[in-house]
Amino acid sequence: MHEREMIVFDHVTYYYGSSLQPALQDVTLRIPRGEFASIIGPNGGGKSTFIKLLLGLLKPQSGAVKLFGDQPEKTRYRVGYAPQQARVDFRFPISVLDVTLAGRFGVGGQRHNALRFRTSRRDKEIAMSSLEKMGVARLARKSFGDLSGGERQRTLIARALCSEPELLVLDEPTNNIDPLSVEKFYQLLETLRDDVSILMASHDLGVVSNLVDSVVCVNRVARFHPTSEFNGDLVRELYHSDVRLVRHDHRCSEAGHEHRSDVD
Ligand code: ADP
Ligand code: MG
Repeated sequence: MHEREMIVFDHVTYYYGSSLQPALQDVTLRIPRGEFASIIGPNGGGKSTFIKLLLGLLKPQSGAVKLFGDQPEKTRYRVGYAPQQARVDFRFPISVLDVTLAGRFGVGGQRHNALRFRTSRRDKEIAMSSLEKMGVARLARKSFGDLSGGERQRTLIARALCSEPELLVLDEPTNNIDPLSVEKFYQLLETLRDDVSILMASHDLGVVSNLVDSVVCVNRVARFHPTSEFNGDLVRELYHSDVRLVRHDHRCSEAGHEHRSDVD
């Protein structure tokens, strides 16, 4: 099958449990390969649901999702995924390095499980270099449960990078990261974008105008737009309010550029 389309949603509707309102309704869109796209929309609009559907972690009640031209369950090993940070109890003892190494379980489409998975020297090298990219290599031996929210977030992104994915899916990756580190994080994404497609759920509308090629606007319905189509009208329609879209160059914000999105 032709693989130019990385993600295809064809009339996808998804309901949680017995909800009367669908979380996503009749979503039809295509995202080409090589894209750096931001997923934006209000809280509860369905961004995380969209991501879980494209990974095959949720199954639509109607419509179909294709990832790399096939069923997402078959192709999602080609994706590195950092979930929106969950309120999970991390008191069990697992090191930062082991959390990161877990990102290599499915590499090459092999069906590893945690018990049969043997880590090679190369696995460890890649895990350490992913942690280095995220600036947390010095924490490798620490217990994951002892980390701050921001350090956990970085570890989960390192884990996603560790699988050397073709597509990196990041669900609100900057939520727990301080503003200075956010700038560095966006710089890192810029260095990755030549090698990997990126889908990032984000509230930072300023990023949209500078960093990404396209936006997926999600608020029960979802649409794909190239950045050139992205403007204040679209944002107002999406958030149903007068959100100010501030265009700024993210590389300048360390030099005192005001950084506002007025969202949330
Ligand atoms: P976003 O990521 O944009 O904040 P979500 O995809 O998390 O939005 O949620 C979309 C809608 O689905 C919201 O109304 C939310 O309350 C609902 N929802 C999300 N997860 C669940 C769940 N596990 N069970 C029931 N409803 C859910
Ligand atoms: Mg979410």
